[in-house]
Amino acid sequence: MSNLFRNSLLTGLFVSSVPAIGQSLPKPQPPNVVLIFMDDMGYGDLSCYGALQYKTPNLDRLASQGVRFTNFVSAQAVCSASRAGILTGCYPNRVGISGALMPDAKIGLNPDEETIPEVLKKRNYKTAAVGKWHLGHLREFLPLQQGFDEYLGLPYSNDMWPVNYDGKPASADKNDRKFNYPPLPLIDGNEKVREIKTLDDQSELTTLYTERAVRFISQHKKEPFFLYMAHSMPHVPLAVSSKFKGKSQQGMYGDVLMEIDWSVGEILKTLEKNGLDKNTLVIFTSDNGPWLNFGNHAGSTGGLREGKGASFEGGQRVPCLMKWPGHIAPGTVCNKLASTIDILPTLASITQAPLPEKKIDGVNILPLMLGNEAANPRETFLYYYRKNSLEAVRKGDWKLVFAHPGRTYVGFRPGADGFPGSVNENFQHEEGLYDLRRDPGERYDVKEYYPEVVAELKKIAEEARQDLGDDIQKAEGKNRREPGRIETAK
Ligand code: MG
Repeated sequence: MSNLFRNSLLTGLFVSSVPAIGQSLPKPQPPNVVLIFMDDMGYGDLSCYGALQYKTPNLDRLASQGVRFTNFVSAQAVCSASRAGILTGCYPNRVGISGALMPDAKIGLNPDEETIPEVLKKRNYKTAAVGKWHLGHLREFLPLQQGFDEYLGLPYSNDMWPVNYDGKPASADKNDRKFNYPPLPLIDGNEKVREIKTLDDQSELTTLYTERAVRFISQHKKEPFFLYMAHSMPHVPLAVSSKFKGKSQQGMYGDVLMEIDWSVGEILKTLEKNGLDKNTLVIFTSDNGPWLNFGNHAGSTGGLREGKGASFEGGQRVPCLMKWPGHIAPGTVCNKLASTIDILPTLASITQAPLPEKKIDGVNILPLMLGNEAANPRETFLYYYRKNSLEAVRKGDWKLVFAHPGRTYVGFRPGADGFPGSVNENFQHEEGLYDLRRDPGERYDVKEYYPEVVAELKKIAEEARQDLGDDIQKAEGKNRREPGRIETAK
């Protein structure tokens, strides 16, 4: 750690001007926080993580000005679960959210759970959510009821609408579940303000979200704020504005990533213009890996195994960049294990806000952000999927995958131009021990050579089953909580 950054730790974390003699010390101003969360963007999708045929210059600059994590895992490899994890600091199964909630869901994130904005509100933050929510579309579960002062966005995924992959209306075939979905509601506050009916409508989403984010930042120069910017892209169906259509060498997916990069640039510019960049922590990450059966409309895992919907690294490991001038040294690379569930306790530590009262699973990764090489706050990670299946356990570089039925993309021709290819949702994956240092692609099972490692990881799994349960082993788990639930009166 450089002296500059060690000093910033010793003198307190917050930027404050030096008072003249006789003046009282100014109250430390906690940093603003901008959390940008992508949808289905893979580990290999930024140029600073190896993306091909397009560039993401604003994100690459963000990486060079702060820290780039290389072993950062999402809470779970699917939308709603992942979002429950990042916003509560818990494994999603602890708070009763699994899979992706459909437009007819009667459940949502339990309003009794404490979210990042609720934690930061104890330190008087202004809070906004912009973009995809997907933690319950019913009013009781929308962002305004979960700690956010304002909200603009879609309540669930952008493919949950009565439109086919080619942009034509869904067929009236009763087997086509899309046919029964309403047009996508664009929600402002708690109210629907517009219906998103066509791909042309969707091509405006990234710009709409960006304009709202810029407005929110510009309106809150004087008080600390938390902006949760959850893009609908690059989840299919892909849509891009005319500003970026045809601009990449990698078709629609590259165009969409270029527009996302533009959006990040607009946010960074707005922070600079308002003199807020020095006291703002910007975090950029993704909810899960790429939906690989969409072929050229899917992202890249950068060589990791499987993708979205699988607990192998391709489904779970995501890019993560953080910039916080004066605290995070430019050009830091962190190869230690960390997760989206660690963001909540880290922000609580930075802002000196109390942690949620209920048990959480995240750990404070501030020492990693500050470049402390000796720190290793997250030793283990539990890879749950489906409703409550413990599919793998990780400790350090070792990952033990349990025998489980799960998704595989292997053996199927990928789709193209917006249409999906097939996947097998019930492939019987075998037990395997992988050394992620030597074998990040999880190709070489070495369990027979390291029985002591297998035994140690199985012990961690046994403790997890007592705590959180495991559908594969038919274990209940003592410490799971219920989602919010609306009883159907009619
Ligand atoms: Mg997703």
